[in-house]
Amino acid sequence: MTLTFHKTDIQRIFDHCAAGLPNESCGMLAGRDGAVEKVYCMKNAKPGPDYYEMDPEEQFRVMKDIRDAGLQMIGLFHSHPTGQAYPSSVDVAQAYWPGTQLPNYPDAVYVIVSLMDRSRPVVRGFSIEEGKVTEVALHVL
Ligand SMILES: [Zn+2]
Repeated sequence: MTLTFHKTDIQRIFDHCAAGLPNESCGMLAGRDGAVEKVYCMKNAKPGPDYYEMDPEEQFRVMKDIRDAGLQMIGLFHSHPTGQAYPSSVDVAQAYWPGTQLPNYPDAVYVIVSLMDRSRPVVRGFSIEEGKVTEVALHVL
């Protein structure tokens, strides 16, 4: 399993995450067959240096836009302003409906951008299944 990005989309993600500092930033990735075709930079409805929550209404609009475009929601991204590009325990917990093992977004890749070194952001992807974190290779075209 891999996820492929256009270089310009990765740059948009980095710019969005930098603009959100010192708080986390977030967004969704739409595409097909592991190829990201559209990046949605979204607002952090509960901004914090180690927290994000998508705005439900914006999320709803984005999901509709993705469906209307004939694409699929294949990933989510968020930043870690001062942490590693690796899912936190909160990220793992939030991958599921509260109190269940039902994934919020089955098959979605969780992309995390670390801004620990702001001049050199690090981006990595993961799948979170049954509480287990597995790295997904990211390719930039
Ligand atoms: Zn996180």
